[in-house]
Amino acid sequence: MHAMAAGAQLRCTAAVTTALVGEACRRHRTFPTASVALGRALTGGLLLGSGLKDLEKITVHFACEGPVGNIIAQADPHGNVRGYVSNPEADAATMNSNGKFDVRAVVGGGTLYVTRDAGFEIGLMKEPYRGVAPIVSGEISEDLAYYLAKSEQVNSAVGIGVFMSVAPENEGDSTSSLSDLGAEFALDRLRVAAAGGYVIQMMPSADEHVIEQLEQSVAQTPHATEMIRAGLTPAEMLRTVLGGLEVEILDEKEPRFYCQCSRERALLIISALGRDEVEDMLAKDNGAELTCHFCNESYDISAAELLVMLN
Ligand code: ZN
Repeated sequence: MHAMAAGAQLRCTAAVTTALVGEACRRHRTFPTASVALGRALTGGLLLGSGLKDLEKITVHFACEGPVGNIIAQADPHGNVRGYVSNPEADAATMNSNGKFDVRAVVGGGTLYVTRDAGFEIGLMKEPYRGVAPIVSGEISEDLAYYLAKSEQVNSAVGIGVFMSVAPENEGDSTSSLSDLGAEFALDRLRVAAAGGYVIQMMPSADEHVIEQLEQSVAQTPHATEMIRAGLTPAEMLRTVLGGLEVEILDEKEPRFYCQCSRERALLIISALGRDEVEDMLAKDNGAELTCHFCNESYDISAAELLVMLN
């Protein structure tokens, strides 16, 4: 959801991403800490992407020095987002001092790249924009805020979160707490119970009173996942964060995990490899399997299909 506040002095976006983060984690079979890191990055990418123009897309790439490796989130302004982590099994052994998944421990330091490009799909080649900033915190929200301030000179309030809970084993069981489970807990029982957040960007025109009022209000705002668990919509979340400042909602879209890959594209990729490679696949594997990094969907290409390509 996209909005303006305080007479266009603030540009705001907010989203509830529980379902799409859940889908991403199921697709990639991420361990808990990697799930939270991926979910925060997907939500961040979606929020930064909401202000793009029609054919543009944004790629948020955390090149991490920690065990999670790369975290990639790609979004368009229509609420579509996809992404992955290089190591879905990255997991911190313990919670951090706030009792939360220790995302910083799996991210470590590194570099954050943000790329905006437009129109490649229809052959409209526009010079992409690429911004860079160091990963200063490893908690994702803070890193995005730092990036926006340093690389794009926009001061922002960024609040993004992913809340995991344990589903009961059988209907009627009480929900157990994460600490009861120990190291061997069942991944299948861990659910993304709430995910989402907001980004509020201060335009250069924003006056000091508005910024002061916003800062006071943000300081009193509950964590994003608390608001989502209480059932707040993105618009209600923004109104809470903005306190008394007036808000004008510009558009609302339902965000979703969406990948552009398809069987047809997988066939195109293989046929672009060239004759020798295709013959090799046929001889060695009697077919080919292609897995999409972004959504972990696998495409099995049969020997017969490879033969059609060769002829
Ligand atoms: Zn895909």
